[in-house]
Amino acid sequence: MLRTGDQYRDSIRDGREVWVDGKKVENVPNHPVFKPIVDIRARIYDMAHENEFSKKLTYQDESNGEKNCIGSKLPKTQNDWLAKREAIKTIMYEIGAVVTRVGDETAGEMWSLYDGTDILNEVDPRFGENIADHIQKVLKSDIFHVSANTDPKGDRSKLPQDQDPDMLLHAVKETDEGIVVRGAKYETAAAYANQAFVKPTIANWGDQKLSNYALGFICPMNAKGLKHICRSGFAGRSNPEDYPLSNRADEVDTLLVFDNVMIPWEDVLFYQHTKAATFIRGTLHRYSALAFVERILHIADLMIGTALHNVRQTGLESQQAVREKISTLICYREGIEAHLTAAIANAEKSPGDLLMPQQSFLYTGRVHACSQLPKMMHLARELCGGQICVTPDHADFNNTETQPWLEKFYSINEKWSSEDRRRLLAFGRDLLNSSYAGHKLTFQLFAQSAPFAHLNAVYNNFDFSGPLDFVKRSAGLSEKVMK
Ligand SMILES: Cc1cc2nc3c(=O)[nH]c(=O)nc-3n(C[C@H](O)[C@H](O)[C@H](O)COP(=O)(O)OP(=O)(O)OC[C@H]3O[C@@H](n4cnc5c(N)ncnc54)[C@H](O)[C@@H]3O)c2cc1C
Repeated sequence: MLRTGDQYRDSIRDGREVWVDGKKVENVPNHPVFKPIVDIRARIYDMAHENEFSKKLTYQDESNGEKNCIGSKLPKTQNDWLAKREAIKTIMYEIGAVVTRVGDETAGEMWSLYDGTDILNEVDPRFGENIADHIQKVLKSDIFHVSANTDPKGDRSKLPQDQDPDMLLHAVKETDEGIVVRGAKYETAAAYANQAFVKPTIANWGDQKLSNYALGFICPMNAKGLKHICRSGFAGRSNPEDYPLSNRADEVDTLLVFDNVMIPWEDVLFYQHTKAATFIRGTLHRYSALAFVERILHIADLMIGTALHNVRQTGLESQQAVREKISTLICYREGIEAHLTAAIANAEKSPGDLLMPQQSFLYTGRVHACSQLPKMMHLARELCGGQICVTPDHADFNNTETQPWLEKFYSINEKWSSEDRRRLLAFGRDLLNSSYAGHKLTFQLFAQSAPFAHLNAVYNNFDFSGPLDFVKRSAGLSEKVMK
């Protein structure tokens, strides 16, 4: 089934408890901090119904003939992955910005757990059924599904039980109906999504087999006892003419407090068994990293486009030194493209009989994309020159006293009027220099866990057998070093 934008808007007017800027929010879709990003999410829903986009954003379910969203489709073929990539590109171009947490990038976390059905069934066969049911629910109801991993954690030198236990989300009670949980999670988009897959960040359980902190579940964002305390937004603080991305595409993050929230058994995906929690930590981004890295490819395109338009405007494109800088941006961009292409071309069957992108290419691609992003933003900033941060505002370009001067100094040639130059510089400033830009960079650094976890995923998914064997043969080592 495909929802419309208005159905989505209505679905989040559901009595959820949301605060921002010290005030309670009564109507999330209409609130100035949330409206722009809710409108983008709604637009994505509406696009799926429009002739121009429908073919790229949907597919027909073979079992019932219904149309569903391509982003939620369980990946079984390379074409499924190519279609997902094309859908992301279509959406980014239509909305004119890069947004990440709009559902398709987090749906894949559930497919990872689905791959661990055997482990879940070992614990309790209900859990294996629950994950299969929830995957179908997201697919068939087209709900907006996000991800909650990160707890406030508190003092890491202490065990959870040696400090306020709520620093890590945990179960406090078990009843016939389900489990009651307390704690908090950081979660982008929670305040305007429908539900989240909540799971622990803990990677190392020591020799504990059972723990009240080992729990994974699906939680509706209006559950009783759930409180969304959001960071302040960038929208509405400046003129959209001067900060177009801040005002259009800010993805608001939430500290989501679980104050004794009841999770019914049918929504519990694992509970107490650290083996299931370890499995999901090790495989969480097996699918979803592709949609995440795809976004960074489009950020790279925005940087190349902005820098090249700028150097063309100013007649610097023919300078060899300038071309080399643009080429460095291109190498970054094509490096991401190559990793994604190779990951799909060499895709592997998963334990759950899905098709996962080749893991080593995917995770090394994520490290390439995330670790080089600050350097590439800085290079793009350099190519745009200091004018992106010294240019006067839209209001000055329209004030009768200052307008002639700005028209004089910002009109470059017959192709580039002062208005186009102002627009490009404002866009570049918001892409590279603004508070929104700094936040976006931090999002890409952390939103799929921290850089050390990205490198850990590289280590755990690289096939060491080739290099080890090569050195064993070349150095004349004995067979036993390979065991
Ligand atoms: C903009 C933004 C959006 C986010 N959205 C989401 C979301 O939607 N859902 C979600 O679950 N989370 C989200 N997060 C949280 C994110 O996953 C965490 O910020 C991230 O996992 C790091 O955790 P932390 O902030 O607690 O940092 P810390 O755990 O305090 O770590 C800080 C730094 O300490 C070092 N460090 C800590 N532990 C280790 C270790 N074991 N080994 C080596 N170095 C270590 C690293 O340098 C690390 O970067 C978001 C974060 C940001 C900034």
